[in-house]
Amino acid sequence: MEAEEQAQTPVIAPQQGGLLPPPASGAAVRFTAVAPKPRLGQATELQHTLLAWYDWHKRDLPWRHSPDPYAVLVSEFMLQQTQADRVAPRFLAFLEQFPTLEALATASTAAVLRAWSGLGYNVRALRLQAIAREAVRSYAGRLPAEIDELMRLPGVGRYTAAAIASFAYGRQAATVDTNIRRVLRRLFVGVDAVAAAFGDAKAWQLAADVLPLGRAADWNQALMDVGATICTARQPACPYCPLEALCQARHDQLSGGTPIDTPASAKPGVVSGRQPERFAGSSRYYRGRIVRALTQLEPGHGVPLARLGQQIKEDFAGYETTWLAGVVEGLARDGLVSVQEADGEVTVSLPEAGVSDVSPDPNPA
Ligand code: SF4
Repeated sequence: MEAEEQAQTPVIAPQQGGLLPPPASGAAVRFTAVAPKPRLGQATELQHTLLAWYDWHKRDLPWRHSPDPYAVLVSEFMLQQTQADRVAPRFLAFLEQFPTLEALATASTAAVLRAWSGLGYNVRALRLQAIAREAVRSYAGRLPAEIDELMRLPGVGRYTAAAIASFAYGRQAATVDTNIRRVLRRLFVGVDAVAAAFGDAKAWQLAADVLPLGRAADWNQALMDVGATICTARQPACPYCPLEALCQARHDQLSGGTPIDTPASAKPGVVSGRQPERFAGSSRYYRGRIVRALTQLEPGHGVPLARLGQQIKEDFAGYETTWLAGVVEGLARDGLVSVQEADGEVTVSLPEAGVSDVSPDPNPA
């Protein structure tokens, strides 16, 4: 395995990163893969080709209209697990309701969950509000610009921190999300069958190495756009790809007939075409349905446990109350619902309170 990994590792020499002179200058850097790989192309050629394509073909997405760090944060959280076309209208509505970090921090959690309703993965909304509260408490209501500081915020990982740093603050920061990883892997390593040779460390290192100086945000967005619209996980549209002539996977496909993508059924744990049915009966499915049902209530109102069961499950039976209580208990632990018990009846509601703990740190960072 180790020998194979080394054989698949693209070698970039001699200079790494930065926007290089145009190819005509003769100072171009070449990407050379270890045998039997062919030359992949030139760094400058790749950068110029992709950025020129992006200038003409970039997707018009609402979060790209403003470099406001808070807007970037909201968009990045919404885009986790949710596609851009679904996020776009919700993003605008969310910012209208909570236009600043302070507005989000001081809102009730119930209001935030109502605004999030339908996007799924409701824990993201809680994390977003937790970040807003921390920003108000420790950073005077602003998001820090440095990656290490951003990563200290609750729920902010390396990708989100780098995205905020490059998109909002113009920092020279590479990002690696699922789309970027796939595009870089295919460009520099080859077809998906060799994906195991392209782990986290290599992906981040390569992303940093090919980052053009001064256009990090555009470059990151361009890679995302290629990954989302052309170099998709299933059936990449190589003939329409601006990078076709520079792509290792395309070379492998044309020269050896190796498929670029991996059939879903060949991936461990993936049962082609069966995911929706499996999800429909899962605990996550019912957690989502419970939160959604509660967002339909008037603010401040709750619903008895037994009635909640009937709302979220058509054939809900009395013996399932214990199961439902367990699901609700998990939601309460995560801060997504409130549970009150009075006269032997359990009532579930959204957590309306929760603003009292937001106060600026007297010594903000
Ligand atoms: S040529 Fe094909 S595999 Fe290569 S980056 Fe473009 S779409 Fe992806």
